[in-house]
Amino acid sequence: MTDTRHPEAPEDAEARRAVRPVICYPDDTLPDPPLALYRAALAAAVPAGGVTVPPREAACFRVPAGAFFRIRSVGGPQVGDLNLWSAEDLSERFYSGKTRALHGTHVSTGDRLWSAFPHLRPMATIVEDSLGWYGIDADGGSVHDVIGTRCDPYTARLLSGHDYHQCCHSNLTRALAAELGVAPEAAEPHVHDVLNVFMCTGFTRETGQYFMKASPVRPGDALTFFAEIDLLGALSACPGGDCGSEHSSDTARCFPLEVELLAPGAGTLAGWVPPARSAYDRSHGL
Ligand SMILES: [Zn+2]
Repeated sequence: MTDTRHPEAPEDAEARRAVRPVICYPDDTLPDPPLALYRAALAAAVPAGGVTVPPREAACFRVPAGAFFRIRSVGGPQVGDLNLWSAEDLSERFYSGKTRALHGTHVSTGDRLWSAFPHLRPMATIVEDSLGWYGIDADGGSVHDVIGTRCDPYTARLLSGHDYHQCCHSNLTRALAAELGVAPEAAEPHVHDVLNVFMCTGFTRETGQYFMKASPVRPGDALTFFAEIDLLGALSACPGGDCGSEHSSDTARCFPLEVELLAPGAGTLAGWVPPARSAYDRSHGL
């Protein structure tokens, strides 16, 4: 019987497979973030408020350029889905795909969250990651991925035939609508592919399928960001909880997440300025 997905291999199949992989975007020309500067500012930082994200809900927060925000696990293992926008222009939003291309499938200390075209500049830089010890496990899994999208009611409907309203996509939509004072239909187009905070994910070696496994996050763990520009953020406490079994349902045990805001120590960022938007002239060869 003919296998249409796996046609017969040519004679030189192994030779074609054996060519050396090349890193798509070598990072030797990517400017390093000034982590020592950021860490000095963080060491002297002072609390500046924050929000608690209830389970199966989302909340918005605003962070001025030069300040920090810290996403903290409280109560129990919980995954968060993060969206970021420029506070002054919502069309400048986090670009998960290009962040993945530049830094890899999962992000940690020193990696940056990049904004969409035509801006393409760092929106935030990770300055501390208490799960940085995890690395890549025997299943190929790691934490804080930029490979997933966000759980959403459309895919849930497609695969289960049922409507579920507490998916991260809907949670983010409701939170953004409330923040902007607009209808959900006006907020929804701004919701975008997320950073999966604390989520442990990978792709199976055999089939290349996206997998998740119970997050190693425990109460007290935190991921801390430096805001490179004025930010509006939204964080959803995923209905999947630790994402060890299923999402898009009320089955998993869920916990809140805290977002702490921190103002930099006085004078610690002297001379620092937010990054400029891409200098590409946008002529596209015309
Ligand atoms: Zn989710």
